[in-house]
Amino acid sequence: MVDTQVLIVGAGPVGLTLAVDLGLRGVPCTLVEQKESPQFLPKMERCNARTMEIFRRMGLADRIRAAGLPAHCPMDVFIVTSILEPPLLHLSYPSVAEAKKEIAAAIDASLPLEPYQLISQYTLEPLLKSVAEKLPNVTVRFGTEFLEFVENPDSVTAWVRSRDGTAEISARYLAGCDGGSSPIRKQLGIGLEGDGNILELRQALYRCDDLYERIPIGKGRHYHVADAHHTFLILQDSTRHFTLHAVVEQDSDMVAQFAKTIAMPLPFEMINCGMWRQNLLIAERYGSGSRVFLAGDAVHLVIPTGGLGMNTGCGDAIDLSWKLAATLAGWGGPNLLRSYEIERRQVGERNVAAARFASTGRRQWRSMWRPNIRDDTPEGAETRANLARVADLEQRKSNEMVGAELGYRYVGSPLIAAEADAGPEHNFIDYVPSTYPGVRLPHVWLEDGTAVQDRIGYGPGCTLLRFAGNGDIAALGRAFADYGAPYGVLDLRDHRARDIYGYDLVLVRPDLHVVWRGNALPADPARLAALATGH
Ligand SMILES: Cc1cc2nc3c(=O)[nH]c(=O)nc-3n(C[C@H](O)[C@H](O)[C@H](O)COP(=O)(O)OP(=O)(O)OC[C@H]3O[C@@H](n4cnc5c(N)ncnc54)[C@H](O)[C@@H]3O)c2cc1C
Repeated sequence: MVDTQVLIVGAGPVGLTLAVDLGLRGVPCTLVEQKESPQFLPKMERCNARTMEIFRRMGLADRIRAAGLPAHCPMDVFIVTSILEPPLLHLSYPSVAEAKKEIAAAIDASLPLEPYQLISQYTLEPLLKSVAEKLPNVTVRFGTEFLEFVENPDSVTAWVRSRDGTAEISARYLAGCDGGSSPIRKQLGIGLEGDGNILELRQALYRCDDLYERIPIGKGRHYHVADAHHTFLILQDSTRHFTLHAVVEQDSDMVAQFAKTIAMPLPFEMINCGMWRQNLLIAERYGSGSRVFLAGDAVHLVIPTGGLGMNTGCGDAIDLSWKLAATLAGWGGPNLLRSYEIERRQVGERNVAAARFASTGRRQWRSMWRPNIRDDTPEGAETRANLARVADLEQRKSNEMVGAELGYRYVGSPLIAAEADAGPEHNFIDYVPSTYPGVRLPHVWLEDGTAVQDRIGYGPGCTLLRFAGNGDIAALGRAFADYGAPYGVLDLRDHRARDIYGYDLVLVRPDLHVVWRGNALPADPARLAALATGH
């Protein structure tokens, strides 16, 4: 007997997302977190479009938007010498309300079903916690520190410490969502590859009630100050809170740095201040290979430029979740959990590279800074023009990595059908919709106004989308049934969707990644069912 099916360590956004998804899939799980409660500390602030699609499937997108930055607020990015002076560069990005209108009008699958959402990590975590706590299968234990584990042939035993003392928890699987210094990764002896400690910055959180309404150059989410301190002002979801990153000597300097940045005599409070380090690191492995899995910052640490930290971790969580659920339900074959590392480590590697691409771009334009940047001289004007020219290219890399967010696909996965050609190139910036096996199913509006993604139930198994064709497909259903695997057929006789997807039949997994596509079933449907179920 085990105490729980899955023991999750760490209630950051990744562990919480995993707990909610497992709970929604009916898998009993226990989430332990060493902190007594979620903390009011700033970290991420933008869920990207793919993460919002994931939250939409969990029924959480509207709640997250209600708690986040109001829909009408612009998501613009500025590069300035001062927020009181005309910006060197102003990059406009649609507010959520505007982005939703663009999505509603888009009929070519180039846009996601959900736009991004600015929500501070300190808002998102309590929200996800309250969702997890209401799920009957999920036990959430804050104030409980994971100490160590032993992996057995059929289970994992972990020791945890809380106010009540030390206790043992046994589970079928252990998920380490325990952050950058992951004790579980360390116990497994898994190293991190890449570049650590690239730059050390201070970050502080402030409350300044009047600033947002008074910034004269316009409302946005990011204000980069072209200075020698790498100063960077970030709007938080309330519009009353801001964070500031800067390279300064000591915490107390962050008070003066904020005052200097806002450049207006407004009352403000510095709520907290701390150091953080820029890293571009990926774990050698994503778990023990059998019962212990790692997700989120435990296995990839990126520079937040580009916002691919938590967002990559949420992708890990939903990849792992359905595979654990299927394995525990008995129909998932051995390749399901084996594929987790194969699929997600390549995304981790690509997103570390994408973060490097974006942060190198930011360093490029910052390298154009000269001490004369604010001088009212021809030389000062030249410095400003040079920096703005470079930033117009390089800063976009941080804000426009839609290809990395939506276009990733799983290459060489034992769950994904191979096609003769090598498949589309990976591209950080451009998103090119495709149903090439391994990709996320592109969002397409059907003629009746519903979205294909919404029509695919939040079920445990694969779904065959049938857009056209009258061939016999019953053999595939029988093949899934032979494994006891849930499977459904969704008839969507919609010409536009058929044209966009390019095939009459598209087989998708519970996480909406394409397994296979064709115009008729393959000669051996049993092989396809075996592939999709991990046998
Ligand atoms: C300044 C900054 C800005 C960022 N902006 C973005 C952004 O816009 N978008 C984005 O996607 N990402 C961003 N990130 C990155 C993002 O914050 C992280 O990727 C994210 O927090 C990772 O989530 P996680 O759940 O994997 O780990 P964490 O959030 O680190 O959570 C791990 C949890 O495990 C717990 N834990 C650790 N050890 C134990 C133990 N022994 N027992 C019990 N519990 C334990 C910890 O207390 C913690 O709560 C940013 C990061 C920083 C620093």
